[in-house]
Formats: sequence, structure tokens, C-alpha cells
Amino acid sequence: MRHVVMFSGGISSWAAARRVADEHGTSNLQLLFADTYAEDEDLYRFLEEAAAQIGAPLIRIADGRTPWQVFDDEHYIGNARVAPCSRRLKQIPCVRWLAQHTDPADTVIHVGIDWSELHRLPAIERGYQPWLAHAPLCDPPWTSKDELLDQARACGLEPPRLYALGFPHNNCGGACVRGGQAAWAHLWGVFPDRYLDHERREQAFQNRLGKNVAVLRERRGGTTQPLTLRQLRQRLERRAGTTEDPDGQRAAHDGLDWGGCGCLPVPDSSARSESSSPTRIQPVTDRRRPDDRRSRCTARETDGDQQR
Ligand code: SF4
Repeated sequence: MRHVVMFSGGISSWAAARRVADEHGTSNLQLLFADTYAEDEDLYRFLEEAAAQIGAPLIRIADGRTPWQVFDDEHYIGNARVAPCSRRLKQIPCVRWLAQHTDPADTVIHVGIDWSELHRLPAIERGYQPWLAHAPLCDPPWTSKDELLDQARACGLEPPRLYALGFPHNNCGGACVRGGQAAWAHLWGVFPDRYLDHERREQAFQNRLGKNVAVLRERRGGTTQPLTLRQLRQRLERRAGTTEDPDGQRAAHDGLDWGGCGCLPVPDSSARSESSSPTRIQPVTDRRRPDDRRSRCTARETDGDQQR
């Protein structure tokens, strides 16, 4: 039996791969990573060291776009409810790769969700059919994320730096559009330049479409409305300089709203149908991140994905 681990660069997918290697060996094990080109630099260090520590080949594939390029193409900013970046940059490339390189009859797909996310497993299993999907961390011994981080260190593997910096996930450089106000406020505190880059892209998107759309939303006065990254930053800055609440609100942001990522390359029905076109995926062989230009075609799937 062949084993493919969806290897995201997060500590859970490392631990899942570790368990698969311990149980089945590494001769039929592959680690599949779909690059969003928006990852933290340290993720690439971790990926390579983790693959070496496990002793299995790392396969890096990419659509070739960043999340913001996907939003531009689809005229839609990803958010906590709908994240086209996840579908375009992870789900479709991974399912295409699986379809082209594996036989569902003799391949098991392993994902890095743990026992606390057990409720997601049925949808994951359905999404991967006809492949068999398995979540090693949903089996005992059940471990916390801190324990997994300790396990990595005990193996001589330094975990991705985003965890030590207080981020709950090692996805898209801590700037996941599925994150909530608290997650983006944290990004502003830790990586202000990175935050400003996303703020600029959101602003440019708004200007181009002439619409008040944003990654975040907030509920005030009984209605839900977009909360731009600029608005959030300005509130955080004003809040930092004064004990007065600048907006007459209790807090500059909802500190409990961390949102959730859940950015697994689990195909939904539309991703499955779009991934079935007979196209080619090229493995990525260089680790540079592109800037936000269209010139990087070497790593991009050559399918002319639907762009509205
Ligand atoms: S981690 Fe978040 S921003 Fe990145 S591709 Fe997934 S949903 Fe999109």
C-alpha cells in the first residue's frame, strides 16, 4: 500500500507523517506540499528538515498564484466563510497530483487533523473518495499541539517559528483569510510589514472593483459589515496610544475572534470536477517566492484555470 501525507508545513502534518512512517515505514511514503507562495520563510526550512527527519520524499507542487492573485482572478476576496485560495492553491493541485500519480485502489491519503477536529473527518473521507483517507492523529495516543511541538524538538527538529510567535497555524505566513480580527491584530503586532502588504492589496482590490469588500467583517449596531485591514490597523494604532477607546467601543477589535483556518487540501465537489481536466502539474524545484506578478509561469499549472 502506498501512503501520501498532506504535508502543509504545520506541526500536525509532521506528526501525522511521523506516525505513518513508524507504522508503515518510508519506502512507500510521500509527503505532498501545495505551495501558496504566501508562506512564512521558515516554513520552507521546516519542510525540508522535517522530510529529512522522517526520511520520505517531499513533493512540492503549486498552482503558481498567491491567494491575492486568486482573489483578483475570481473578483472575490477570501474570508472566513469562503476561501477560493484554498480551493485553487491547495485542493485542486493536490487532487490533480493524486489523480495523475496514484491509484486509489492502493493509496491511502493521510491528513493532519487531530482528535479535537474529529467532526471534520467524515467530510474529509467523503471528499477524498475513491481514495481512502486517514487521520493518524485522531487515533490514540491523543496529543495536544504543545506535545507535538515538544516531540519535534525531542527529535532534534525545530518547529516552525510561527508557533513560537503566537500564531495558531503555520499557514500563509500567519495571514490566513480565514483568521478573525484577533488573528489579524496579532499579525499586525508581529509582522507589521506583512500586514501592511495585505492591507495594500485589499485596498487595491477595493479600488479596482469599486466595492466595499474586505477580508474581515464585524457586527456593530445590529448589522454585519466589512472591516478593512486599514480600519483595523487604525483602531489598533489609536488604541495603542491612548486609554480612550477611539470608536466608543469596548475594544479596538474582537480579541476572541481568532477564526479558524481549516485549510486542508480536502476537495469539495467543485474542486473535484475542476481537477479532473487532463492537465499537467509541474513540481516546484526552486524555493524562491515570487512577488505578485504573473511572470512566474514555470511552476504554474498549464491549464488556464477559469478566470472570471
Ligand atoms: S491558509 Fe488561509 S489564506 Fe492560505 S490558502 Fe488557506 S484559506 Fe487561503
